[in-house]
Amino acid sequence: MLYDHFGRPLNSLRIQVNASCNFKCFFCHMEGTDENAVTLSPEEIEKAVMVAAKNGVNRVKFTGGEPLLRKDLEEIIARTRKHIEGDISLTTNAYFLKQRIKGLRDAGLNRINISMHSIEGDKFVDITKVDAISIVEEGIDAALDSGLSPVKVNFVVLKGINETQVNSMIDFTASKGAILQLIEYETDRKGEAVESFKKYHYDLRLIENRLAKVAESVDYNSLHHRERMHLRAKNGKPATVEFVRPQRNSDFCNHCTRLRITSKGEFQTCLNRSDQMFSFRGKDESGVLGSYKNAVYSRVPYWREADESSY
Ligand code: SAM
Repeated sequence: MLYDHFGRPLNSLRIQVNASCNFKCFFCHMEGTDENAVTLSPEEIEKAVMVAAKNGVNRVKFTGGEPLLRKDLEEIIARTRKHIEGDISLTTNAYFLKQRIKGLRDAGLNRINISMHSIEGDKFVDITKVDAISIVEEGIDAALDSGLSPVKVNFVVLKGINETQVNSMIDFTASKGAILQLIEYETDRKGEAVESFKKYHYDLRLIENRLAKVAESVDYNSLHHRERMHLRAKNGKPATVEFVRPQRNSDFCNHCTRLRITSKGEFQTCLNRSDQMFSFRGKDESGVLGSYKNAVYSRVPYWREADESSY
């Protein structure tokens, strides 16, 4: 296991398998990269995973773009599974999920996150530009039926758009047996000054404080020390709500144990850093290891305690 200079173990990879998406969410951070046609082959991804696994990585999340646009995602997962004993998960908009879920599971997928940023059809279209809320719901049902567990529903909270839907989303996910993951609209320091961020950013602590009063218990996801509350939905069903609250949150960064891989074949230290990219494309195993180590040892927590006072 490698540790960075801040004592953080590196045990997890977030791999961007492509950069194109069939949805056009206006707030999308594109995983910190530009839209670009370059994508890694399954073999290239496997080599990077193998090197990371030999150095202590035991969990992998696949992201995009939209990962299901890749026809070879099942092969990528199967190749990853050869090296990773722990969790392999995927985040998707679920548009193409229903017909792929069994193949993904059989390839070695353990868990899935499905993005659904509105429970109201018209707002769903406003956000994604695609009229697909019922297709996404079918995807959620298919994921639950497939036995993958847990199924998490990602909901980016946007001021003036969907923040009033949180209770309905708790009911919706609880009635299905899924976990609701509330995500803060995030950006880097420069992005905080952009008008659309100021307009739509919602302080997730307001919801956290409100739900804390009715939570039956609280625990934490070790990654990013994300708070997870267990409560009762209005419909009486047990509900779990996880909070992803990165903005100006030093605790989040202090508990970051992941490295990113971009679709272009670089190790990236942080979503908010485009100046720390360590390319491994075309390198042999020892070259990939060199890039991996350079990335790990360059990691710096992005948000520090000093940033919190100006939030
Ligand atoms: N297309 C896939 C999906 O919809 O899940 C994978 C890629 S998407 C970039 C991964 C997750 O990041 C989604 O849940 C998305 O909503 C979230 N996301 C995108 N931009 C964000 C932002 N600026 N702040 C917070 N979350 C964001």
